[in-house]
Amino acid sequence: MTLTAGVVAVQGDVSEHAAAIRRAADAHGQPADVREIRTAGVVPECDVLLLPGGESTAISRLLDREGIDAEIRSHVAAGKPLLATCAGLIVSSTDANDDRVETLDVLDVTVDRNAFGRQVDSFEAPLDVDGLADPFPAVFIRAPVIDEVGADATVLASWDGRPVAIRDGPVVATSFHPELTADVRLHELAFFDRKPSAQAGDA
Ligand code: GLN
Repeated sequence: MTLTAGVVAVQGDVSEHAAAIRRAADAHGQPADVREIRTAGVVPECDVLLLPGGESTAISRLLDREGIDAEIRSHVAAGKPLLATCAGLIVSSTDANDDRVETLDVLDVTVDRNAFGRQVDSFEAPLDVDGLADPFPAVFIRAPVIDEVGADATVLASWDGRPVAIRDGPVVATSFHPELTADVRLHELAFFDRKPSAQAGDA
């Protein structure tokens, strides 16, 4: 059965994510049909969604203007997987501490944009991730700091005492960029190894 995957394509690492999804699907014996999302109408056709990094203010503006925001909320409410990375995590959160970002409120965390990046613009670190046997090579680029993790969310990984990977029902979010390495285990974790959530469909 073909996996239909949508990548929000306003900016950011769209082709890298598309390639990672294809490789992850291939590892699970499934062909993937990857669609780029720039307008409303595509999300409802997708089994899984990906919200990449980039600039959260710009992504938020596009989602709002095109009416894609409501479609993503419905996708998650139906219990379908979403992987959100870096700026995608910021946009998915309940509060980004920035009026220019209209958050989707599908990930029960509050964040501080750019906070990791004030000291070091980017760095790579081997990260222990819950559910992965070996450390994941995590690339951080002007990464957001997760300030608070709400009751609905689980921390999958921390760096320097701070959460950097989160699961909230069908949503997996990382403050780093899993698409920038050849390692597709985070895409697999988000799209294929999901344990059914008791709340899925109730939201
Ligand atoms: N700091 C960016 C923002 O606030 C996110 C950076 C990234 O996605 N690499 O949107």
